[in-house]
Amino acid sequence: MYGRHQWRRRFRANACRWTAPRESILDLLGRTRGHLSAKDIYLSLQPTFPGLGLATVYRTLELLHRLGIVQKVTSSDGQGRYQLRSVDQQDHHHHLICSRCGLIVDYRDFVREELELVKKTEDALAKKYNFVIQDHSIEFLGLCEKCR
Ligand SMILES: [Zn+2]
Ligand SMILES: [Zn+2]
Ligand SMILES: [Zn+2]
Repeated sequence: MYGRHQWRRRFRANACRWTAPRESILDLLGRTRGHLSAKDIYLSLQPTFPGLGLATVYRTLELLHRLGIVQKVTSSDGQGRYQLRSVDQQDHHHHLICSRCGLIVDYRDFVREELELVKKTEDALAKKYNFVIQDHSIEFLGLCEKCR
């Protein structure tokens, strides 16, 4: 479902050394549907890569984020949570984030007006800034049902 080879190519094209721990970070993100923090990833990779430090995991995630390979959302605890950006349009989603408990809701059942607005906005921005828009990430912050 995730075009891992495509990511790898993009990663290499950016002159980054492709190491086994880094690859395993991508693999883990590819296997997980939810959002992982650097610490989650660090803890689950510890048994396999005892030499891998939390700082390296964090730096790798930030790099992947800059390259547009992962999406990052920041929840109320201030920790970034990461999710592989899918190349599959079917998996495209937006986020609702609870700023109290940190709940992250992925939704794909967009309302029609939302799709139209995004499309219109992208077209207008592309024209105004002469910019080729390839993707976007949209998040709404607020309070979930439990925290209201
Ligand atoms: Zn969208
Ligand atoms: Zn909440
Ligand atoms: Zn998500």
